[in-house]
Amino acid sequence: MPSPRPRTKRSGARRSRALWPRLRRRLFPAAPLSKRLRRLGSLLLLGALLAYPGALAADAVLVALLVPEEPGYTPASLPVPRPVPQMTVALVIDDMGLDRRRSARTVRLPGPLTLAYLPYAQDLAGQTRAARAAGHEVILHMPMEPLGAHDPGPSALRATLSEEENLSRLRAALAAVPGAVGVNNHMGSRFTENAAALGPILAEIGARGLYFLDSRTSPRSLAYTTARELGVPALGRDVFLDDSNDPDAITTQIAAMEARARRTGSVIAIGHPREATLEALEAWLATAERRGFRTIPLSGRLLLSRAAQRQ
Ligand SMILES: [Zn+2]
Repeated sequence: MPSPRPRTKRSGARRSRALWPRLRRRLFPAAPLSKRLRRLGSLLLLGALLAYPGALAADAVLVALLVPEEPGYTPASLPVPRPVPQMTVALVIDDMGLDRRRSARTVRLPGPLTLAYLPYAQDLAGQTRAARAAGHEVILHMPMEPLGAHDPGPSALRATLSEEENLSRLRAALAAVPGAVGVNNHMGSRFTENAAALGPILAEIGARGLYFLDSRTSPRSLAYTTARELGVPALGRDVFLDDSNDPDAITTQIAAMEARARRTGSVIAIGHPREATLEALEAWLATAERRGFRTIPLSGRLLLSRAAQRQ
């Protein structure tokens, strides 16, 4: 009967060969200098370990080399999450504040999320304080005039109103949502197609040091481009999670969200505090980090975008 030691060595060698193509792709792609230096260090370490086989368990070494950016990752945590490094997901929950029970359940989700409160909800001081205390970011969900007959609620911005009236509605709404660090539109498929009406509103948002998220309720929305032209920090929604409340449809949209994050490294998704959405998000958030997705607030997304532009 062969001794255990040579058997271990043979199996270790097989694993090394199988892992080499993955390792080579990870070590040699174009990357910033700091990453290349870290990879060079990893290579030297690998060389030293190959010169002294058996010094450490081969699996442990290779896992450490493959996932150097994963804090708390141990050899027992296999399989290696893909891709590395993590992808960012900015999850925005609109229409917050009206349904108190589901809004509170949303606040209990692990964050940081970005929670968009309607200015005509009750006890917004208390609700937004709880949201911030739970680690979420708070923004104003500003009602804007839609195409068609849907009611955006009281004091919505309308293309037919004067600039002064729309500005005073925006200011009152901002005052109603304490701690808001940004604004996105509730409905607004008509208002966001009107650059002339949007201009003063977006300028006011920028002058207050806030950002604007275009919910993109119309494919012809000009809000994002107008904000950028005015120098207002702006972002655009990529995926709606729950246009339908059917759990299968939400699962499909969550897959689309993940696909975009995998493709581009980041995604902005909007959902609502409804039963099926909350259930889906509770399940998704429970495993997201482990699978390489990191939730960030919209302000974090702005910071990352700016850093990327500087590089
Ligand atoms: Zn809304």
